[in-house]
Parts: sequence; C-alpha cells; structure tokens
Amino acid sequence: MSNPARGSHGTPDRTPDPARQFVHEFAEGSKEQKRLLGGKGANLAEMTNLGLPVPPGFTISTEACRYYLAEGREPEGLAQEVDRHLARLEAERGKQLGAQEDPLLVSVRSGAMYSMPGMMDTVLDIGLHDGSVAGLAAESGDERFAWDSYRRLIQMFGKTVLGIDGRLFDDALERMKRDRGVTSDLGLGVSDLRDLVAEHKAVVRDRTGRDFPQDPREQLDMAIRAVFESWNTERARAYRRQERIPHDLGTAVNVMAMVYGNLGPNSGTGVAFTRDPATGRPGVYGDYLTDAQGEDVVAGIRNTVALQELEHIDKRSYDELLRIMALLEEHYKDLCDIEFTIERGKLWMLQTRVGKRTAAAAFQMAVQLVDDGVIDLDEALRRVTGAQLAHLMFPQFDKSSGTAPLAHGVPASPGAAVGAAVFDSAEAVARRDRGERVILVRQETNPDDLPGMLVAEGILTSRGGKTSHAAVVARGMGKTCVVGADALEIDTGRRRFTVHGAEVREGDVISVDGTTGAVYRGEIAVVPSPVMRDLQSGGRPDTARPDTARQDAAGADGAAAVVHAVRRLMRHADSVARLGVHANADTPQDAERARRLGARGIGLCRTEHMFLGERRHYVEDLILAETGEQQDKALDALLPLQRDDFAGIFEAMNDLPVTIRLIDPPLHEFLPDLTELAVKVAVARERGEPDEDDERLLQAVRKQHERNPMLGLRGVRLGLVVPGLVGMQVRAIAEAAVAHKRAGGTPRPEVMVPLVGGAEELELLRAEIEAVLADVRAGSGVDVPIAIGTMIELPRAALTAGRIAGSAEFFSFGTNDLTQTTWGFSRDDVEGEFFGAYLDKGIFTVSPFEAIDEEGVGRLIEIAVAEGRAARPGLVLGVCGEHGGDPASVRFFDRAGLDYVSCSPYRVPIARLEAGRAAVTGHGGGSDTR
Ligand code: ADP
Ligand code: MG
Ligand code: MG
Repeated sequence: MSNPARGSHGTPDRTPDPARQFVHEFAEGSKEQKRLLGGKGANLAEMTNLGLPVPPGFTISTEACRYYLAEGREPEGLAQEVDRHLARLEAERGKQLGAQEDPLLVSVRSGAMYSMPGMMDTVLDIGLHDGSVAGLAAESGDERFAWDSYRRLIQMFGKTVLGIDGRLFDDALERMKRDRGVTSDLGLGVSDLRDLVAEHKAVVRDRTGRDFPQDPREQLDMAIRAVFESWNTERARAYRRQERIPHDLGTAVNVMAMVYGNLGPNSGTGVAFTRDPATGRPGVYGDYLTDAQGEDVVAGIRNTVALQELEHIDKRSYDELLRIMALLEEHYKDLCDIEFTIERGKLWMLQTRVGKRTAAAAFQMAVQLVDDGVIDLDEALRRVTGAQLAHLMFPQFDKSSGTAPLAHGVPASPGAAVGAAVFDSAEAVARRDRGERVILVRQETNPDDLPGMLVAEGILTSRGGKTSHAAVVARGMGKTCVVGADALEIDTGRRRFTVHGAEVREGDVISVDGTTGAVYRGEIAVVPSPVMRDLQSGGRPDTARPDTARQDAAGADGAAAVVHAVRRLMRHADSVARLGVHANADTPQDAERARRLGARGIGLCRTEHMFLGERRHYVEDLILAETGEQQDKALDALLPLQRDDFAGIFEAMNDLPVTIRLIDPPLHEFLPDLTELAVKVAVARERGEPDEDDERLLQAVRKQHERNPMLGLRGVRLGLVVPGLVGMQVRAIAEAAVAHKRAGGTPRPEVMVPLVGGAEELELLRAEIEAVLADVRAGSGVDVPIAIGTMIELPRAALTAGRIAGSAEFFSFGTNDLTQTTWGFSRDDVEGEFFGAYLDKGIFTVSPFEAIDEEGVGRLIEIAVAEGRAARPGLVLGVCGEHGGDPASVRFFDRAGLDYVSCSPYRVPIARLEAGRAAVTGHGGGSDTR
C-alpha cells in the first residue's frame, strides 16, 4: 500500500502508519488486493478505477476483522478512521448519514477473499430512523419508497445484526399482505408500510428488550461488528470446510452509499453474467426485477424477468450495461458476474467478480478465449483445475435407458444425481446420517438450506434461474443442480410434489440430470462420461467420438466441444509438464487402464494380493515351517504363481518402468483371525478332539499378534527376519522379466523396499536381492537391468536420506505412511474420530491425508530430496502415496523437484493436468484454484 504524497506544503506528516491503516477508499485499491480488501472490495476498487459508475464508499480491511475476532474488540483507531472516511463520503454526496433532511444512507456489506455466496451478512439502508424517514420521502418525492426502505432496514438489521429470527419479520409482511388482500409487496401502500414499520419495531423491542437504534452512527457501528462476526456463523464455517477455505482469513466490510432500485417503475435491480456459466458461450445472461432492492432478486420474492427484457424497459440503461459488461470481460479476460441497480434511469454497478462456472464451461471458455486471441494456452491451463477435470470424468445418465422424464428445469450445475427426494434441510441431514443418498427438493433455497445442500447428491428447485441461490451455491460446490422446474408443485408441508398428475413423496427415489435439466422418477443407470471415454481412448481421434446416438443435437455438440477442449488442454499440459505421471496398479487390468489414461509407468505395484486368496495356506505353511526344507517348499509353491502375476503386468506395461514393492504388511494379515481361531481350538479341546495343525497355527498366530501392527514387523523388517521371502519375490520378478525379454519385450522392472528406516537395513537386503539377480542372470544368460530402490516413508529415512541413497538408485515417497508417522496419526483410527473437530478449529484446512502437509511432511521430503541428490546425483525421485493424485499436492511435488508422481489410474489425467499447470504457474504459489 503506497502512502499518499506528503509534505509538499510543509504540513506535519499525518499519514497513519500504513501497517495500521484499516480503512481504504475504493479508489485506493485494485483487484489484486483480495486478501486485504476481500473480493468484493478489491473489485469495487477496480471498477471505480476503470471509471465505471460505482457508488462511492470505502472498505474496512480483513486485517481489522481478524483483529476483532481475535481480540473481541475493534482495533484502536478504527473508529477514527471510519469517521474520517465517512466524512469524506458525506462531503462527496453532499448529505449527512441519517440526517433529518436528505439523509445519506449506506449499505454495510461483507466480502471475503474467496466468494462465499449468501454465507455472510449485508445490511442495506443504514441511516434510516424515525427522524430521517420523512427527509428521505421529501427528497425522493416518494413517501412509499421511504417507508418501504425503513421496513427493509429494520427487517435486515433485526435479523443479521440483532440476531432475531427472520421469520418473525417475514410473517409480519405476509400477514400484512393477506390483510390488505394483495399478493405482492408492491401492493402495499404508504400507511400499510408505516404500520409494518411499527410492527417490525415491536418485534425488535419484544425480542431484544430495547428499541430499534435511532442513532445512525450506532447503526453503522453495530452493522460493521455484525459483518465481522458473520465470518464465524455456523453456515459460513460449514461452507468453508466444504470449499477448503481457511478459517483465519476474515472478511472485509464495504460501506457504500445506497442507490435505490425501489424508486418505482423506472428503477430496478439485477444480476448478469457476461457468458453462460454452464457452457461458457458468450451472450446476455441474467435476471432483472423492476422496482426492487438487491436482495429481492436472489430471494425470489417476485418473479424476475430475463435480462434481455431490460432492453424494452429501459433501453438506455440496457445499452450502457452491455457496454460495461463487454468492457469488464475485456478487462478481466474472463467470465464476469455482475450486480447492478438502476435508480430512476441511472445505472449503478454494485459488484463484479470473475464468475463461478461449471467444469465444462471452464474448459470450453479457456479454449475459446485462446481461439479469440485473448489469452494464450499457458493461461488457459491456469484457468482450469484438476478438480474440474475430475468432475467431467464423473459418469452420466444413460440416455439409452429410454425413461421419459417427469419434468424439465434449467440445468444449473451438471452431474447425474440419484437419491431419495427430501423436502427440507433437516430431513436431508437426518437421512444422510443413516447412509441414504438424498436429493433436496425446494421451491427455492436460501442460506438456511445450506446443511442440506452440503449433504445432498443433488438439488432440485421449482423456481429461480441460473443465478438463483440454489444455482450459484451448487455450482460453487460442484454439486448437481436443476432449478426452475416449474411444473413441479411442491408441497413442503405434506412432504411431496406433484407433476402433471404424478405424485412423488418424501423418500421416493428420483434422478436429476444437471447437464440437461431432466428430472426422472426412480433410479436411472449411469454410463461413463464422454470426457472419460475420450481419455480412455488415449486421446486417439478415431475412437474419440462421443456416443451421440440418442442425444439431441445441442447435447451432442456440447459434449463434443467439451471433449475437444479437454483434449487440447491435456495435450498442452503434457507438453509443458516437467513432472512425470505414473500410476499405482497391482494387476494387469489396472496397469492397462492406467496406461490408456496416460500413465508413463507404474510407480507402485503392490504384491500383497499375490499372497492372498487360495495362496494363503502357503503363507501359513511358511510361518509354521520348522525346517529350512519345509520353508523352501512353501516358497517354491509361491514362486511360479507370482512369476505369472508379474508376467501379466510386464505385458501390459511393456517398455515403461514398473516399480514393484516387496511384501509390506504384517504377516498376521495373511493368517486366520486370532479370536476365531482361539475359539475353534478351545471348542475342539472341549470336545476332546484337539486338532494338531490348528493348535500349532494358533501358537504361531499368537506369536505374530502385535499391539500396533502398523509399527510392527512389516516392510523391510519382514524381509530381514523371514528367510527366503524376499528372495522368492525377487526371483519371480527377474524370471518373469527374462521370459518377457525372450519373447521380444522390453521389461523395465524396479525392486522397491518398503519401510526402510536406516541405511543398514537396505544394505543388508540389497545384498540378498543382488545375489538373486546375479543368479538368475547367470542361469538364464539374459541380462535385464533391474534398479533397486526404497520407499521413504519414515521420518528417520528422510533425515538419513544421504546415507540411504548410497544403496538406493531411486526413492519413492510413501506419503501416506510418512504422514502417519510424522504426525503420529493412525489414519484409520483418527480420520473418522476427530478430524472433523480439527477441521472446525482450523488446525487443518484439509486433512493431511488428502493434501500433503507442506510444512511438516513436505519439509521432510525437501530434506530427503536435497540430501539424497547430493549423495547420488542421478537419484530418481517419485511419490506413490495417494497425494500423488491430489491437485495441490502435485503442485508441491513439482516445486520440490521430484521426477514423477504416482497415483491411482483414475486420477492419472488429473495429475497430468496439474503437472502441466504446475509448470506454467511457476514456483512460489499456485493460482487460486477455487
Ligand atoms: P451478497 O454478497 O450476499 O451478494 P451484497 O453485499 O452483494 O451481498 O448485497 C446484497 C444485495 O444488496 C446485492 O444485491 C447488492 O447489489 C445490494 N446492494 C449492496 N449495496 C448496495 C447499495 N449501496 N445500494 C443498493 N443496493 C446495494
Ligand atoms: Mg452480492
Ligand atoms: Mg507404506
């Protein structure tokens, strides 16, 4: 923040310490300052500086909010700063806040760094009271308007600042409308509204024990405090958990001169998008409401009209709006989402932001902007995320099922959702807790529905358009949503809806298609998405045709356009990525799938399953063996079976590296359950017919039993303690490789030792492995080079990586175990237990098992990378934990300088995209991925 020019005419420098400046004029900020000014404040600043008609105002920074929330009071000097900026605002408007005559009114608006639609509070018309309402009436020449504004203020202030149940005010309004026999609030006259104000004031007195505050400055201060506090409401916290927004950012507060959309038929308010947020196509999208104030549009009090209608209502304002929309799109080079108000024919811009969009729109729009020459391919790649790609890979409804839809609505957020219809948020939560999938069905949603929206598979409303609360929130969550299905007659009280004579009751299963807007009774089958089909074809154009047979032309075009956009950006991602992408695959089928999805190797081939099923008894024999001969017999039986397993995998991955992890889990996992076996043995003894084998097995199982198997005899320890086990595995690998090479293939196996904690462990096991490899080479006369490396999944291994690298040609970070052992968490035990509380308290923003804990686990990785490479310059470095497919983690691994990540086959495309994004985002922090 730069200080204003100072000292030119010798006055003492009164510029406040910039670190202590909490209030900023709109003209002082820019769109880059979202962290300080919040998204709304930063963009209001940007629009002000673009010369757009923004009502004047100022922003109280997020810093002030953080201080307030931490200390429970405003920072020192904030009140004076607000005084100063308010005085400037009053001077600019030539009005005094809440004066008896021609009062200045302001709005007090929340706005955090990341948009949290409808989550926090805003109060309009601050400054009205018994004394100023007449002044507003006189100045505007519209008494009805003045009283309408006053009743709105008490209602909003009562609900958001004083914490009174909003229904009390809504009920009063409904009652008044009923009494006067009108259906819309527009039908109420001056005296009705005057009576309503009296009723609202009575509610305030009744509920708070004091009168509605008549001092405008007190109103302002209370509203500011309420906005600070709205950061921590339950619904805001729930939204942040879902969206992984940190709890410690705080919100800014924007104080802005009011402009009035409720001044009669030549006034109104609306929202607009510069493109279709569902497809990314340019055009005029939005809703407009005549003679209304901002809140009314989203609240669905009256039916809005399509924005195009404004052309007939107020052509001049419409043209001006279109001009500004084009300017904003050009300036932001992206889809903009806009709030505006028209006051007696004069257009005012109240908000803009880069709009939320569906995953399909994000890809299509990015590519379209490249084609239009607005952005380059690197920038296009930055505009899409792995999470969006994941969304496009979800299955869709099978169009060939032939089921006729019950109804159609507006497709607001894509996806195929199936679940039991429920009619309120509480029921949604209750059923979800019982493990049921639900679809939340409402006339329209409001912020109180959030808990239900969070747990629902999909959201269906009978009212509202693409900019309604349900649509905006669902898109933000990436949740399937159909809105405005107006054929649905929803009877929330009786928990059912009817449509064209058919009835759907609570609990009946319905299917909702967020891509087409169709609503079906029952469960419709799902099929792979066109994007998934294309990715699985390996991007080969000949096989990339989306299945268009039964789709309508628009749907097929849409699908083809998305497939094309994804393919183009994937190609670019692959071409710029530095980080390779491998897959975790244990079977030939998985390996094949991973390869088709673009994996350039297998980074983790687990071998545990090669000891399970039918083969379990060989493990028992091995453990029960008393002589070397018996041991050899058990191992000899396993050898050919495992050799075949590896042969299949080498076949699938020919010429790509396959990193095979030697047996890892504790042996007891391959033995019968201790309790069951103990019971069996006890029963047999009781009967006087003890079974000798079972008795011996029980002894062995008892011996193997461990209190903390996760920290017990497993990984490299097993190889060192159970003779011959690793030798057998390595022989199977080497012999399969020899056979594959003899058959003309190019096998590239690597042997990976798990759970190494110290160099000596690896040295010892390595000697055994090398001896077996040499033996196979000598016996077959065929030389297949096989690299030997280790997993780094214990803090000690990371800290002694320099020495371990002495006997490892590669490292693969096992980030699951490394996270468990670094934090001292047992994943299975703690995740369901208390992670909710930890997320709530802000100890994590996201589980460390989902996104890598950069500060702790990441630090260990960085140490191991540096020391490992210093000891062995050619050391190959990868990751094989689940983090390898997590977008944020992939970007971290790129920064840490790893060679590749390995993840489950279905996440391979996501990791490829993120590897490309990491390359174009540069180091030092990724772009906003929300
Ligand atoms: P949200 O973040 O929930 O959209 P806003 O702060 O944008 O909340 O405000 C709610 C509504 O009030 C919006 O429609 C907005 O355009 C309108 N509004 C906010 N400030 C003013 C103002 N100074 N004059 C007129 N309308 C306003
Ligand atoms: Mg808004
Ligand atoms: Mg492990």
